[in-house]
Amino acid sequence: MQSEARVVIIGGGVVGCSILYHLAKFGWKDVILLERDELTSGSSWHAAGQIHTLSSDPNISRLQGYTINLYKEIEEVSGHSVGLHSTGGFYLASNEAWHDYLKRERSKARYMGLEQEFISLEEAARRHPLIDPERYIAALWDPLDGDVDPSGATYAYAKAARVYGASYETHTPVIETNQRADGSWEVVTKKGIIHAEMIVNAGGLWAREVGHLAGINLPVQPMEHHYLITEAIPEVVEHEGRLPAGIDYEGNMYFRQERDGMLLGTYEPSSTPWKIEGTPQDFGHELLPPDLDRIADRLEVGFQRIPALGRAGIKDMINGPFTFGPDGNPMIGPVPGTRNYWVAVGVMAGFCQAGGVGLCMAEWMMEGEPAIDVWAMDIARFGDFATPEWGTVKSSENYERRFVMTFPNETLPRGRRQKTTALYDRLINKGALMGQVFGLEHALWFADGPDDAHEEPTFRRSRAHHYIAREIKAVREAVGCIEIANFAKHEFRGPGARKFLDYILAGRVPVPGRMTLTPMLTPKGKLYGDLTVACLAEDHFMLFGSGAMQEAHRRWFELHLPDSGVRYENKSDAYHGIGLSGPKSRELLQGICRHDVSATAMKFLDIQQSFVAGVPAILARISFSGELGYEIYTAPQYQLRLAEAIGAAGKDLGLRWYGARALMSLRLEKSWGVWTLDFRPDFTAVESGLDFFINWNKDFIGKEFTQAQRENGVKIRLVTLVIETDDIDVSNDEAIMHEGQAVGYVSSGGFAHHVGKSMALGYVPLALAKGGQKLEVEILGEMYPAEVQSQPLYDPKGEKMRS
Ligand SMILES: Cc1cc2nc3c(=O)[nH]c(=O)nc-3n(C[C@H](O)[C@H](O)[C@H](O)COP(=O)(O)OP(=O)(O)OC[C@H]3O[C@@H](n4cnc5c(N)ncnc54)[C@H](O)[C@@H]3O)c2cc1C
Repeated sequence: MQSEARVVIIGGGVVGCSILYHLAKFGWKDVILLERDELTSGSSWHAAGQIHTLSSDPNISRLQGYTINLYKEIEEVSGHSVGLHSTGGFYLASNEAWHDYLKRERSKARYMGLEQEFISLEEAARRHPLIDPERYIAALWDPLDGDVDPSGATYAYAKAARVYGASYETHTPVIETNQRADGSWEVVTKKGIIHAEMIVNAGGLWAREVGHLAGINLPVQPMEHHYLITEAIPEVVEHEGRLPAGIDYEGNMYFRQERDGMLLGTYEPSSTPWKIEGTPQDFGHELLPPDLDRIADRLEVGFQRIPALGRAGIKDMINGPFTFGPDGNPMIGPVPGTRNYWVAVGVMAGFCQAGGVGLCMAEWMMEGEPAIDVWAMDIARFGDFATPEWGTVKSSENYERRFVMTFPNETLPRGRRQKTTALYDRLINKGALMGQVFGLEHALWFADGPDDAHEEPTFRRSRAHHYIAREIKAVREAVGCIEIANFAKHEFRGPGARKFLDYILAGRVPVPGRMTLTPMLTPKGKLYGDLTVACLAEDHFMLFGSGAMQEAHRRWFELHLPDSGVRYENKSDAYHGIGLSGPKSRELLQGICRHDVSATAMKFLDIQQSFVAGVPAILARISFSGELGYEIYTAPQYQLRLAEAIGAAGKDLGLRWYGARALMSLRLEKSWGVWTLDFRPDFTAVESGLDFFINWNKDFIGKEFTQAQRENGVKIRLVTLVIETDDIDVSNDEAIMHEGQAVGYVSSGGFAHHVGKSMALGYVPLALAKGGQKLEVEILGEMYPAEVQSQPLYDPKGEKMRS
């Protein structure tokens, strides 16, 4: 076995083999995959092999489409059959909520270029005579669906990788991974040690154990899962051609043809996590004892909907484990805080996703960034809060909800209160409905006390609508306060801090006592941050940004930090805080500050370290609401004191607490985008309009690309739309249509309460981006007229926030 390699991939399941294939295909030959046993010795060999494109995240759907289209390629390159059956398949809805869901998926598919279409139930029954059409109300057809032979597909990736010059070694368990001082790795096996520049943990069922070898805890959990295969069914035998695949959401099951019978799998509502304490090293090509009772009620539903199944004998019952992650999506990329350590774990639909995962991993490793935004799969969306215990709780929840509807306004119940602020109980007592960002609870909106604090999950306007309206009224007319503990805070100190920030940020780095807004770009000019940079002293800076993105940003900063001169720390948990917004916010603040905060003493975008309500604080004159406003950051132990003082001082000023939902509405009427939705690495500074904040008189990461784009022009542009609707708003990802064609999609939107309009932000072709342009937005299958706005609907000149 070789002793040096650029990359060692640990794990020869479908995921590891796909990464091997993509690295080799794109030109890295010095790559080796090490497999403990034979290839496919984890969950890959016993998968049902069903393939489809549907995913909650549009980019994952896109990558699933890529994966499915790749099967022919790897078969050709390797000469090894993948057993692909391109039957097409349908998603079946048996209630209105699922029908709405499918309409949303159809709308997403339009702009992703996927060819999903509704077919009539008669047509569905014609294509698949075994289903009972009476049980359904809608069927969405996807021609890409079908199935593959899991073992064949895994071997085809590996053999095709060999054709391109990479290698794999079976019966070679990795027993240690030790990092050298220079950041490279020694991968220890019984056959010898390989010294590698980078390693990839693709350990699947053993992802946790492989992680432990490097001191890394991954929040993944193997779950038991059943599917059954029937004896031959006369209707299947008689059917001409292979039957299409199907997913029945309410029935919680997937099905497809298997030889002359059927395969039926189900996600039971009470899950069985497997080997919570750790996957045994000697577990091999094994199955678990089936437990028919566990899925009996699901099967009953299945037999009602596909009656022929109930009449057939069960030939085989498979119970096998596979790993889930906390939100059901894979975890890929470089692990923050550990140099040159990559993961591709928690891939729970490997035969739909491994191609896309391999593609993105290879691009990321070779080019420094994937070609599309992979945030929904990035390992950095989890941090310290995602402990192994939390991982088990959330992965179980996710398994159980695999085919259970999650509405856009719904928050999931498990793993809650993992991180809280000192105000948690108080906000609950005020009627807060809480959400969770990066493990931390924060208020979404406030009902009339705890007994009233409940939401009705829906795609339409919910009962929260009117409560959010009154929060917004308080902010626009008097004063509102919001907890801002969930914003990320990054601290940079040292003599080299300004130079470093000047290079890593595209915007102007301010003078002491001032703040600026700035995009942060990748070398290819993609957006990688939309941040506020504050200079507290010449050698002391704070960056405020997306709380969800804090570990991804930490990874980015640490990757680029110079050897000396700058000390960096993620201080997000060290500062909590409260934001004040509204015309009376200055009056309130002055009531709890000894120093002068008048308009002349503290101007818009000023920042100072001072005392507020008698506690040490960083006081910044800024607000995301578009009003006069302040952000007061303080250590968590002072949060309660600060809140009490604000509450007392605001009593006669009409103070009201508001939550994240109100903030998202307030910023809409200002046409301000938000990170992860409108601003993300799928777009550039020029496309998003964030080039407005760029300082062109300096060098910065991404300058060359951005300058060229500015000179040559862009094809798409972020616009604000007003949509003509009465009782429904977008909930992101809807298609934006022009003359019957999908020309873009909604990146974010909702109801803008103060201006009383339904609004959306989205990217459309430049030619359609001018103010007054008439477009349409598809919401739950209906087309609604929409118009591009030429300026923000609220305070277009920004006079209020500067007042
Ligand atoms: C019953 C069942 C049905 C399924 N149905 C479908 C389906 O229809 N469609 C679909 O897309 N997905 C399906 N899946 C999921 C799919 O099987 C997984 O997503 C996929 O197998 C994950 O692949 P992987 O490479 O990440 O992990 P694994 O297949 O677990 O591979 C990990 C590999 O790493 C190796 N390894 C571990 N530790 C070491 C070490 N220290 N040194 C060297 N090698 C090591 C293991 O031996 C193993 O071969 C199903 C799974 C099950 C259990």
